[in-house]
Amino acid sequence: MAAFTAVRRIGLTGGIGSGKSTVATLLQQCGAHLVDTDAIARALTAPEGAAIPALRARFGPESIDAAGAMDRDWMRERAFADGTLREALEALLHPLIGAEADRQACAAAAQACVVFDVPLLVESSRWRARVDRVLVVDCSVQQQIERVVRRSGWSSDAVMRVIAQQASRELRRAAADAVIHNGSEDAAVLTLEVQALWRQWVTAH
Ligand code: ADP
Repeated sequence: MAAFTAVRRIGLTGGIGSGKSTVATLLQQCGAHLVDTDAIARALTAPEGAAIPALRARFGPESIDAAGAMDRDWMRERAFADGTLREALEALLHPLIGAEADRQACAAAAQACVVFDVPLLVESSRWRARVDRVLVVDCSVQQQIERVVRRSGWSSDAVMRVIAQQASRELRRAAADAVIHNGSEDAAVLTLEVQALWRQWVTAH
């Protein structure tokens, strides 16, 4: 008889506005230990962040703002226009983000289920090896746009530009062990779906 063990490491991903962060919070409420790779990236590139010396050396002093943080506007502008620069930035940051994510995961309680919230999990293949299961949050592009416009006050065009840079819904779903369809604007529906998945993957063992 096959032995089933509880899932210990979940990689959570989804396109911008899909509801990924909302699902991450719900998983945390179920008892998961959350490792937020966006927060790690922000800390690494904040004033005195561990990535600042390497960024200065690689991209020059103009990549660092007066406060000593990575100049996001400067970097975003160039990374959008220049794929080589974007790749160089990713090559510099991704190993640092991975190492800090591992450190935070190791600091979790031994039996805890760790959820790695990784916006670009499908885009960067190294994440797959770190997790037992990949959970994808999915909704229509129209809903992604509406949610980000509502949440962040961006223009539809700005949201569409980010969506165009991310993996397609099809690619993301193809990489998933489970997909949460976040098509309802009723938060209670999403909560029930996340709780059902938590029972299936984590507590029913
Ligand atoms: P992501 O992390 O994928 O960019 P968020 O979790 O921040 O997306 O969700 C985008 C916005 O949509 C947030 O303001 C969130 O509160 C809202 N939202 C997401 N899913 C739902 C839902 N099922 N019901 C109501 N609001 C939702």
